[in-house]
Amino acid sequence: MLSIWEKQTFFAPTDVLIAGSGFVGLWSAYFLKKANPSLRITIIDKGIVPTGASTRNAGFACFGSVTELLLDVETMGTDSMLELVEKRFRGLQTIFETFKASDIHYEQCGGYELITAREHERYPDLFEKIAWLNDAVSPITRKKHTYRFIDEPKAFGFENIHSIISNELEGGLHSGWLCRMLLLKVQEMGVIVLSALGIEAFNHIGDHLEIATDRGIVLKTNYLLICTNAFAAKLHASVNISPARGQVLLTSPIEGGVPKGAFHCDEGFYYFRNLGDRILLGGARNKAFDEEATAELAVTDRIQSELELFLRQVVLPGRSYTITDRWSGIMGMSDEKKPVIRQLEQHVYCAIGLGGMGVALAPTVALEVADLLTQR
Ligand SMILES: Cc1cc2nc3c(=O)[nH]c(=O)nc-3n(C[C@H](O)[C@H](O)[C@H](O)COP(=O)(O)OP(=O)(O)OC[C@H]3O[C@@H](n4cnc5c(N)ncnc54)[C@H](O)[C@@H]3O)c2cc1C
Repeated sequence: MLSIWEKQTFFAPTDVLIAGSGFVGLWSAYFLKKANPSLRITIIDKGIVPTGASTRNAGFACFGSVTELLLDVETMGTDSMLELVEKRFRGLQTIFETFKASDIHYEQCGGYELITAREHERYPDLFEKIAWLNDAVSPITRKKHTYRFIDEPKAFGFENIHSIISNELEGGLHSGWLCRMLLLKVQEMGVIVLSALGIEAFNHIGDHLEIATDRGIVLKTNYLLICTNAFAAKLHASVNISPARGQVLLTSPIEGGVPKGAFHCDEGFYYFRNLGDRILLGGARNKAFDEEATAELAVTDRIQSELELFLRQVVLPGRSYTITDRWSGIMGMSDEKKPVIRQLEQHVYCAIGLGGMGVALAPTVALEVADLLTQR
């Protein structure tokens, strides 16, 4: 039973209840409060800390590698590809305008794409394609040559790589600190954030909504914004988002140092970066798509051994290290590879399905859904 004090403060009726305190939920609260400081907003998350993708990712602050964007052109067309690049680029600018680089451990270390012999065969005209892509993205990045071939790809010490494309506008940040700084910011703005409280269902009662939670507490709100990403399908029949698990490993510090930067390979299915003198490597989902289409937070021998093989054969050939950490996070994938930002029914909205792009994309998605809600 709740006390009157609890009912009138932590669990008081709100104007907007946000489910999910990942990047999208937090940025949404931020933009809603910025637009209207008097809005009463509560965020609930079923985890003790945000437990989907935002605190479990690789922290790449990136807006698209060459083969990823060329694939997007094939699947969604040039205009949609550029729209996504623009949203990611704008999202990154929002992060840098909102937080000091040192607070979120951001380093503009450069993004690099490792081109394998197979990809080189697939794109024999890669040089021309890069020239085309540079022209296409230059109105967004305001740079003539966003992507360039590296003159001395061997300098990184990678093996089994044909060539490397660099993008100096990309970098890496600390996702834990970005989440924490966002939490502090929205709390300073007056948002109530409740952890370990999951939404189970909602009901329209008169002109408001009642939110049933997994602790038996019922919350009242005028509007519900669903930001539970991969877990959103449970809440609304019309939501078509599939879970995709991403697994990661981290090495011990490596004597002699490691290549610095945020690296992609194999159309983005493998990604690694340095964390000081350690390598954080994730991906290999393409080796077991069906098995990894799950919301279960676990690591598997199959994917972890693929990651270790990649580490030995490509990233750190002949080097000594141990694996100190392994974890996984869950992405939410939409059918169109685009975030789903819409009104689901009266007083209920969602902003979900950011796939593997949410670090950069979340601020832009959140601003869009906040606009949708405030212009309702
Ligand atoms: C391994 C991995 C690596 C990645 N690397 C990168 C990268 O380098 N760069 C990049 O841009 N993107 C990356 N991503 C993707 C990025 O992390 C996501 O797109 C982004 O974090 C999505 O944010 P979100 O707020 O939509 O979802 P989430 O962070 O998943 O947040 C959803 C929240 O909802 C909560 N929740 C679930 N069910 C309920 C419920 N019933 N009630 C209340 N709360 C609930 C969860 O606990 C969670 O905190 C990666 C993802 C993974 C998994």
